[in-house]
Amino acid sequence: MRNESAPPSLLGLSRDGLTALVSEWSFKAIHARSIWRHLHAYGRTDFGTLGGLPAGLIDRLSLSTTASWLGIARDTESRDGFTRKYLLQLDDGKQIETVLMRYAGRVTACVSTQAGCAMGCVFCATGQMGFARHLTTAEIVAQALHVSRVLAASTGERLRNLVLMGMGEPLHNYDATIAATHILGDTAGLALSPARMTLSTVGVVPGIVRLADDREPVSLAVSLHGATQEARAAMVPVAKAWPLDVLMEACRYYCDTMDRHIFYEWTLIEGANDRPEDAHALGRLLERQRAHVNLIPLNPTDGYGGLPTTPHAARQFQSVLAEYGLPSTVRQRRGIDIAAGCGQLASAR
Ligand code: SAH
Ligand code: SF4
Repeated sequence: MRNESAPPSLLGLSRDGLTALVSEWSFKAIHARSIWRHLHAYGRTDFGTLGGLPAGLIDRLSLSTTASWLGIARDTESRDGFTRKYLLQLDDGKQIETVLMRYAGRVTACVSTQAGCAMGCVFCATGQMGFARHLTTAEIVAQALHVSRVLAASTGERLRNLVLMGMGEPLHNYDATIAATHILGDTAGLALSPARMTLSTVGVVPGIVRLADDREPVSLAVSLHGATQEARAAMVPVAKAWPLDVLMEACRYYCDTMDRHIFYEWTLIEGANDRPEDAHALGRLLERQRAHVNLIPLNPTDGYGGLPTTPHAARQFQSVLAEYGLPSTVRQRRGIDIAAGCGQLASAR
């Protein structure tokens, strides 16, 4: 069980929230900025070494808040040399996975937003394990800071890209997830550009509409996998709650309101949704929409027997999409040997 009366984590506070707390304790607001930079820009919690901080404030911080990093339960590196996966320990004993990926000279952190997932997509290991709980803002922020600290201590690179595509459905945990993107985008901290933070959703319609209404600047990816209601619902159970036509209406609303495109994710499964007729159906669905299609050859999971598409079928799929003016990318398969690929993240508890 989580201790509900545990002191709040500093990692879950916005800069304004931290400033308010420091002022509430009757210390000068200016100290909040030093604490914030120490935490978020340098990944340090040893406030005692920070010159200029009043001793009373340091005591108050250690008494009334926590700022602990997530413990590493396991650290595995893929033979591909580009992918590293961390099994991270939460305070209540639950575990989550976070992935560090390198692609075309870029480093990306793939972070989780929930322990498990309630959405039950048939081919996804996280869905197969079921839902444990939402992650807090602090736990989402801590994953990005973990990757940033690993980079700082090894290659010295700066983390610039983040995908909310790890375990869980980010729009099922909207408030904590969005608060985390604000903290990670804060220019006095990690300063991730919102355009380089991509949130991927299985199609939680109220969440998509809210992102648009709130003008949230993160990039949006929507997982489709099927271009008819029937085909999609067979793979994605929540399609019954938010049918395809309702989802597409929300996507059009998002694109119009935000004046930007959406990435559509399509897991390519041999013989199931990788045939030319599937590509034509997707082409018709997205024709004349601002869209980029990311094609992900199926990664293996214990609970699903389908096979990944072949490179030939994937190329053919792309050329059909091109007939509809739709740009697409086939995702490189990475980290499969350590189960760090899309849809492979899971934990035993
Ligand atoms: N819950 C969100 C984000 C996490 S899943 C979502 O569903 O969009 C991230 C991506 O991995 C999604 O596009 C999802 O459809 C895809 N995925 C899930 N299982 C997969 C598998 N076995 N192989 C390839 N991609 C998979
Ligand atoms: Fe959840 Fe996404 Fe996996 Fe579906 S694909 S079960 S929404 S994590």
